[in-house]
Amino acid sequence: MIKFLNVTKEYREGTLALSNINIHIEKGDFAFIVGPSGAGKSTFIKLLLKEIEPTKGKITIHGMDITRLSTRKIPALRRKIGVVFQDFRLLPNKTVYENVAFAMEIIEATPKEIRRQVPTMLAMVGLSGKAKMYPHELSGGEQQRVSIARAIVNNPSVLIADEPTGNLDPDTAWEIMKLLKQINRRGTTIVMATHAKEIVDVMQQRVIAIEGGKIVRDDKKGVYGYED
Ligand code: ADP
Ligand code: ADP
Repeated sequence: MIKFLNVTKEYREGTLALSNINIHIEKGDFAFIVGPSGAGKSTFIKLLLKEIEPTKGKITIHGMDITRLSTRKIPALRRKIGVVFQDFRLLPNKTVYENVAFAMEIIEATPKEIRRQVPTMLAMVGLSGKAKMYPHELSGGEQQRVSIARAIVNNPSVLIADEPTGNLDPDTAWEIMKLLKQINRRGTTIVMATHAKEIVDVMQQRVIAIEGGKIVRDDKKGVYGYED
């Protein structure tokens, strides 16, 4: 489903952020991306989202070479990929309902589809009662649930989570992990970059470790492996 083939990313200033990496993530995988700060994790995620281009190599999603995608086809790619960030990135002037509906409006879903799908998603993330609230009226965990609902509302095949628990206390972080695991069980591939040692160690999922722009570990049931 996701393949990195001999991918190198060198930033303009000459920093080699990723050096000839090969990664193969299968449909339905739950993969943690770990590694020290500056290892290349964000670069890996930005490449997946086509926010930046590799210097060398090929990245395919569903067999589609995203490095050769015409501008016209980028929206179709983004639709296949949901994204969740550490800082939620909700629209502050829209309600919970409107934040999720907006993701469907962008892909030109019909009003009827939106009216049906948004409440289903809010129920799934446990926020049915908060549809009319604004992001600032919610706790961090609730805001992250809204961002997850928004990320999966268009049924992407992959959910990318960049430090999704980074701003949450441990109990709330675990609630979010339960939700992500539930989404994964429904068949969505999950790629999660994280520094949350305890979560990685307890979950026993695939762990891909990046250090200095190279993959140094890739274990089926891995551990975090660092002390921070
Ligand atoms: P991580 O997410 O693991 O902390 P990054 O992918 O952000 O690592 O960074 C990998 C390396 O690339 C680091 O040395 C970082 O300083 C550098 N880097 C990241 N983004 C840029 C950029 N836009 N321009 C130049 N160097 C960058
Ligand atoms: P995070 O890993 O929290 O997502 P960033 O990707 O913003 O953080 O930054 C990771 C590393 O890349 C940091 O060391 C940062 O200094 C460096 N970096 C990010 N953007 C640039 C840039 N435009 N130029 C140089 N270094 C950058």
